[in-house]
Amino acid sequence: MNNTRHIRHEFVDMIPDHLEDQVVYISIAYTTAVHLCCCGCKSEVVTPLSPTDWSVMFDGQSISLRPSIGNWSFQCQSHYWIQRNQIRWARRWSHDEIAIGRERDTILKEAWFAPDNAEPAVTAPIQPARSARWFWRWIQRLWPRRRHDGQSVRGAPQRRMKP
Ligand SMILES: [Zn+2]
Repeated sequence: MNNTRHIRHEFVDMIPDHLEDQVVYISIAYTTAVHLCCCGCKSEVVTPLSPTDWSVMFDGQSISLRPSIGNWSFQCQSHYWIQRNQIRWARRWSHDEIAIGRERDTILKEAWFAPDNAEPAVTAPIQPARSARWFWRWIQRLWPRRRHDGQSVRGAPQRRMKP
């Protein structure tokens, strides 16, 4: 794992085919951010932007991604926060913690898309059909090359889960 502490951002219409290290590409049109894993393993980390996935905060100079990025499906198992274009490394999670985190993600998504929430989900500007179609095409295109999916990790950076 290298000790990169800084990352830059680029707002793009389409995510480029060739990704550079230490750049977070953000496509507002496709509500997706993509970067190469900050550990240096070159895995592509896709972080969809939605109320139940990640959000990007742009302060005019730098970006932050919330929640943290846990690359549990990569061999590196890296876990970090991107805050104001700085990488803040977080500790690895145990298998149990990962399983709990995934379950919580599923529950959050189900709650968000449940009938009670149908109206906000439909009216929210983050669910254009085009974006979902593009995203899945993109995933299918990448799938044979490299497995990728960032696991979102809810909670404050300093929060520790009891084993
Ligand atoms: Zn990595």
